Amino acid sequence: MIKVSKFSIFSKSAIILYFFIATILLFFTTDVTAKTISYSDPISYTVTTYEASTSSLEYLPTEILEPDGSSSYFRYKAVEGMSPKPDPAPVATIETKTVAKASKYETKLYIIDSGIKGPVVMIIGGVHGNEPAGYMAAAKVKNYNLKKGKLLVLPEANKLAIEAGRRYASGGSDLNRLFPQSKSASPKNILAKDIYNIIKDNNVDWLMDMHEGFDYYKNTATNSVGQTIIYYPANNAISTVEDIVKHLNNDIPKSLHKFTILRYPVQGSVARSSAEFLGVKSFIFETSMKQTLATRISLQEKAAQKLLSNLGML
Ligand SMILES: [Zn+2]
Repeated sequence: MIKVSKFSIFSKSAIILYFFIATILLFFTTDVTAKTISYSDPISYTVTTYEASTSSLEYLPTEILEPDGSSSYFRYKAVEGMSPKPDPAPVATIETKTVAKASKYETKLYIIDSGIKGPVVMIIGGVHGNEPAGYMAAAKVKNYNLKKGKLLVLPEANKLAIEAGRRYASGGSDLNRLFPQSKSASPKNILAKDIYNIIKDNNVDWLMDMHEGFDYYKNTATNSVGQTIIYYPANNAISTVEDIVKHLNNDIPKSLHKFTILRYPVQGSVARSSAEFLGVKSFIFETSMKQTLATRISLQEKAAQKLLSNLGML
């Protein structure tokens, strides 16, 4: 005959005791936080969940208060990531880079990154040193805060020309003729090469190049391109370009001063090469120098703002 001890470690009462001890231990060793959420639609009720800070608990109690005030308890399965964790808040950054480093053309590029996925826009000023509204407006644009996407601003593309107050510095050449004129060609100096690589490496979607003309395009007595947008007709750029012109012309009463859309930026220009060979949507923006500097800067900024707001970035 086998003698059965009164208290076996496998006995029913022992298992109940283990379970009880385990429950108590679990309660004291698990860091539980309570969270109450009230819902009002379609019916009004409150849910309190007790979240374990570890995933060791298999079940968590969830209290549900019924609309009539009575409450009932449910066993709620706790799995890793039971409560969706919010994405970490995006971090906006402003980075400054030196373009054409260690050369006489050294100039600063500002990269404003919202930290949120979106379009990449590049705005260039000062390709021509005697067109101040462009580089002065670009200097303001570099301080914008973005809702999404990334903005690259090169306010003083040709710093030597700006310092000289000329289209290009003496002994130099027109920066807007140094970009590739065929897919296999290379930019013609280190400055153009760096700018072109920035556009390529950042997968720029839109490029605005800020310029000025000496008169109004609508003054047929001159051949000036003042108050125009010269865009490259590809990559569906037209609708946005039309929006910008409409937006500007709404506030310009005098017909002579209104903006006109032209096509094909000149060969060798950054707008032309980036559109033709890198698939960028691009345009040259030209204000007329017949207006005050303040008006011209404001028009440049207004166009940049319209582009950015159309893209949902402002
Ligand atoms: Zn120009």
